[in-house]
Amino acid sequence: MADCIFCKIIAGEIPSAKAYEDELCLAFKDLDPKAPVHLLVIPKTHIQSVDAVTPENSGLVAHIFETIPKIMKDQGITSGYRVITNIGPDAGQTVPHLHFHVLAGKEMGWEPA
Ligand code: 5GP
Ligand code: ZN
Repeated sequence: MADCIFCKIIAGEIPSAKAYEDELCLAFKDLDPKAPVHLLVIPKTHIQSVDAVTPENSGLVAHIFETIPKIMKDQGITSGYRVITNIGPDAGQTVPHLHFHVLAGKEMGWEPA
């Protein structure tokens, strides 16, 4: 999709530090990491957010959730990680392309709001 930062990253028009890639999804380091490991995992097809998940595209989400544990194993993470997705303005979604933040490498508190 034109003017989508993450679609540009997928197309290679904006550089990123890739951690994993296959035909359906891409994982790369967040520019502003909130933990020692902070990856963004995105579908290669533009989906705006969880609000735009449908029976036609939900297989991509399933694929991402099958893939995240493998990515974290490759990253050497053995003591847990957190997966977060923000949906819309109140949640603080700033990039309107579905993405899963995956955070690891430190003990995390739980005060999301
Ligand atoms: P959101 O706030 O939408 O849940 O998360 C967007 C995330 O994308 C933020 O954590 C932000 O640091 C990250 N981000 C924004 N632009 C870029 C970029 O061009 N490259 C990378 N690697 N991360 C980005
Ligand atoms: Zn996009």
